[in-house]
Amino acid sequence: MLDPATRRFRVGPGATWGHVAEKLGARGWAMTSGNYGDVGVGGLATAGGIGYLARAHGVTVDHVVAAELVLADGSKVRTDAATEPDLFWAVRGAGSSIGVATALELEALEVGNVVVGTFTYDATDAAGFLLRWSRYLAAAPRRLTSFPFVGAARRGQGPVAQAINVWADDDVDAAVAALEPMLGLAPVVDQRAQLVPYGALVPPGDSRHVGQQTTRIRSGFVPHTTEEDAAALARLLADPAVQVLEVRSMGGAVADVDPAATAFAHRRQEVFVSAWGTPGAAERFDAAWSAFAPHTSGLYAVYTSDLRPERVHDAYPGATYDRLAEIKRRVDPGNLFARGLIVAPAGSEAGRG
Ligand SMILES: Cc1cc2nc3c(=O)[nH]c(=O)nc-3n(C[C@H](O)[C@H](O)[C@H](O)COP(=O)(O)OP(=O)(O)OC[C@H]3O[C@@H](n4cnc5c(N)ncnc54)[C@H](O)[C@@H]3O)c2cc1C
Repeated sequence: MLDPATRRFRVGPGATWGHVAEKLGARGWAMTSGNYGDVGVGGLATAGGIGYLARAHGVTVDHVVAAELVLADGSKVRTDAATEPDLFWAVRGAGSSIGVATALELEALEVGNVVVGTFTYDATDAAGFLLRWSRYLAAAPRRLTSFPFVGAARRGQGPVAQAINVWADDDVDAAVAALEPMLGLAPVVDQRAQLVPYGALVPPGDSRHVGQQTTRIRSGFVPHTTEEDAAALARLLADPAVQVLEVRSMGGAVADVDPAATAFAHRRQEVFVSAWGTPGAAERFDAAWSAFAPHTSGLYAVYTSDLRPERVHDAYPGATYDRLAEIKRRVDPGNLFARGLIVAPAGSEAGRG
């Protein structure tokens, strides 16, 4: 802990979000992170951080106030809004393109208990459910964030959607008022709601990290869900090569921030969607996603198995890409950090690729 007054804390990149939530929770605080406690701080806090508090409090990079980096030439630099502001901008969304973050400082949120409603729906009418859900969330109070997982129909059972709906504080009456209408989005199979510490949503997993993520994933942002988008999502779900659709509400505090303010530029889209592939059906999965892709605008760099260089422009669009490429030319002209969806140095061969 660095400063209890501003709730500023310092964290190493090897920590996992479950442990961060435990530590902060002991003080009645939290940090908006992802939906899984075993994910590391380093990759998520330098890429974006789309989690259960997104609409209420934005993405994780919005709360990073300083970072210590090791650059490609081995030099160490501390960056914040006043020191090396270009690097501070870049590390909040494209950290892995520019260096290794060896420490991060963030300001915690005064979030203790939250209300979580877990609703399971019969999603036979997947397009109708996704359209109604999108419209509801787009107009919902920003304290509500919702993540439905829609499982494909299997073995005679229709698609089922399980939505984790998080109200970002302990105002139970307000939470109930916001959650109740969601019970009308599709036939409800099961429902439960609890008041829990934020950390209970992201318990530490402490599994051994050996690169075990083998699921093929594609993701993209949907600007504003139309009937056509919802129908296309339902077609994607109906493809045997797709196991699960994961849908996340954006907007609220995510959209308060100017897309140019950080290297995480996806601020105006209402929905983040990812599809998980059926093992052994890679080609068909890729084709199914390609048919859906025109309904998306941009992708989240660290939530995709599609690492083709041209995808970098979807992750870092337009002026964001250009600014990153110039920074990369300055701090990593030899493209030492080239793993994943990485912006190449401006003017380099890789950049022309
Ligand atoms: C099960 C699961 C659930 C997820 N859920 C979410 C979610 O809810 N929300 C969300 O936003 N994301 C989510 N993600 C994506 C996650 O943010 C990325 O996979 C992220 O890269 C993980 O960071 P890590 O430090 O654990 O990964 P690692 O495997 O250690 O690193 C992955 C990459 O991140 C970069 N990186 C890691 N550490 C640093 C560092 N210190 N400095 C610079 N670059 C670094 C490097 O490019 C590295 O190759 C999820 C991922 C998984 C596997």
